[in-house]
Amino acid sequence: MEGSYGGYESPARQGARKREFEHRNDIVEIGRRLYQKGFIAAADGNISVRMEPDRILTTPSGMNKGRLTPEDLVVTDARGRLLYGKHRPSSELEMHLVMYQERPDVNAVVHAHPPHASGFAVAGYAMDQPLLSEVILTLGTVPLAEYGTPTTPELAEAVRPHAGHDGILLANHGALTAGGDLFQAYDRMETLEHSAHIFIVARILGRERPLSEEHVSKLRMIRERTGFEPPTRACLSCKVLDEKVTGRTPEPKAGAMTFTQEQLVELITDVVKGL
Ligand SMILES: [Zn+2]
Repeated sequence: MEGSYGGYESPARQGARKREFEHRNDIVEIGRRLYQKGFIAAADGNISVRMEPDRILTTPSGMNKGRLTPEDLVVTDARGRLLYGKHRPSSELEMHLVMYQERPDVNAVVHAHPPHASGFAVAGYAMDQPLLSEVILTLGTVPLAEYGTPTTPELAEAVRPHAGHDGILLANHGALTAGGDLFQAYDRMETLEHSAHIFIVARILGRERPLSEEHVSKLRMIRERTGFEPPTRACLSCKVLDEKVTGRTPEPKAGAMTFTQEQLVELITDVVKGL
C-alpha cells in the first residue's frame, strides 16, 4: 500500500526502496532474533519479503533460521517457483504467498512457533477477546485458522479466510504475522507472543476481565484519530473489533471524539488499570 501518514512514509514505501542485499541482511537478522527469543527451534519457522510484485525472498527449507547467511536465502516468483538460490524454498512458503495475494499492503511475513501463542493454537483458542488495550491498538484480534497439514496446500488454504488479520494462529502448529515491512511483521510476532503470555497468566490467576464495548470503541476511535496504523484489517472473527479495509488514513468524522496526548495517556492508563 502506498501513502504517507502524518508526513511519514508508510513502511511499505520505505521497504520498496531497499535493495536485495539489504532485505537479505534483514531476514538473517530476524531469523537470529526469532531463534534467540525461543520463537523457533531447530529448523522451524520461515520468513519472507516481497521485494517486487513478482520477487519473493525467502528462507531455505530445512535449515536453522538462527544461523543463516545472506547467501542461504532463495528468490522465487509470486507463485513460489524458484528463480535463483542454492537451496530449496521453504515448504511452507505457500501460506506466505496467500498473504501477499490477499493483502497488497503486506510486504513481509513471519511464521514461527512461539510457545505461548502456539499453546493457544494447540488448545484451539483464538486470541480474539478484547483483553489488552495496546493489543487492540496495534495488532487487532488474532483468529485461529483451521488445522492444515504443514507443507501441503491445506495449510495455505486454511490461512486464506483470515488473511485480513495481521496475526493468525495456526491450529496445532504455530503463528503467522504480516506487515508492511519485515520489522513490522516481526514486531507483531513479538506482540502476539507477549500477549499470549499475559493471557495465560491471567487465566492461571483465574480471572480474565474483557474490556467493555465502550472501552473498545474508545480505543478504536483513538486508533482512527491518531492514524496509529493504516486501517487495513478486516477482523472477521470478532464483531466488537471489526475493521474496514480503506487503504488510507481516515479523515476525522463529524462528531468523532478528539483527544490530546495527555487525555490519551490517561485513557489508556485507566483501561490498563481496569484489567
Ligand atoms: Zn511451522
